[in-house]
Amino acid sequence: MEYVPEQNRYQTLEYNRCGKSGLKLPPLSLGLWHNFGSEDDFSNARELALYAFDNGITHFDLANNYGPVPGAAETNFGRILADDLASYRDELIISSKAGYLMWDGPYGDWGSKKYLVASLDQSLKRVGVDYFDIFYSHRPDPETPIEETVDALEYAVNSGKALYVGISNYDADQTAAAYAELKSRGIRCLIHQPRYNMIDRRPEAGLFDQLDSLGMGAIVFSPLEQGILAGRYLDGIPDSSRATKGVFLNEEKALSYQKLSRSLNEIAQSRGQSLAQMAIAWVLKRRTVCSALIGASSTRQIQENLAALERLDFSVEELAAIDKVIKD
Ligand code: NDP
Repeated sequence: MEYVPEQNRYQTLEYNRCGKSGLKLPPLSLGLWHNFGSEDDFSNARELALYAFDNGITHFDLANNYGPVPGAAETNFGRILADDLASYRDELIISSKAGYLMWDGPYGDWGSKKYLVASLDQSLKRVGVDYFDIFYSHRPDPETPIEETVDALEYAVNSGKALYVGISNYDADQTAAAYAELKSRGIRCLIHQPRYNMIDRRPEAGLFDQLDSLGMGAIVFSPLEQGILAGRYLDGIPDSSRATKGVFLNEEKALSYQKLSRSLNEIAQSRGQSLAQMAIAWVLKRRTVCSALIGASSTRQIQENLAALERLDFSVEELAAIDKVIKD
């Protein structure tokens, strides 16, 4: 059946400006790292993407290696785009990245111009688009001069294959170096994609301040700590949850956070929120963060997570209680 998007899709969310740029992003963006692979149910993946779009989520985040198999998430999203969203391309922010292992040999990993440019071309083909809205260097490469990685990002913009460029997993100093090198070529480093959540607060040790001073925005990944901060494992290991797959999260790790997540869940409940909702509100309280980049395996999860936006404020006491649970 032909997909007709929800007419009122832009009436609920308030879009946040990404740093000091002209681009606004939805407070929640959908990441396609999981649940869009060749082993996943395509009809569910399609439902997730369309449900997100129907609810004002305009930003979909990919990378060359998302799958499994690597590349499958781009191919599957490309299919959804062609079948359902082609007329809405100008309403979408589609991002992709390169920087982790994608193919064998010396040119399929890290940050050389050879790898990044070839990977960008492959990603565009898989998604079936002429350009990405944002193309990222997925991680810093200690062996490639930043000038060369920036050569690739400059090429992406100047060839029209990316509108904006960003970096991910760079520390504060690496961010300043990439920003300065891009600036020297007349290109804005728009956005940083760091890992950030109530448990993993590394960006607070300098990265966020750096982004503020450079006028860059942050879109933070794994705000729910892959489900641990979404209450997914409060009562054990549900069938087909990410921890059962054991690749990026295993059952032992998920259960090791059970006491902590139960305590945080009590604080969330006292705020009238679920733990997932409090975890999202918590990352969004930092002004640098323009979007929380979530994953989801069901539309119900997206629905629950969107409702986080109804209560974003925290009292000093609530923040102190959260900090105490994390420290103990
Ligand atoms: P999250 O921390 O949001 O974890 C998502 C998982 O949490 C879901 O798959 C689901 O697990 C569970 N979940 C979500 N909502 C709920 C809910 N309401 N109730 C219960 N469980 C819930 O993010 P991800 O780790 O998936 O990362 C998000 C995105 O960030 C990725 O898709 C990718 O785009 C990006 N990313 C970027 C990286 C980088 O290096 N730049 C690295 C990692 C991610 P389940 O599947 O078990 O249902």
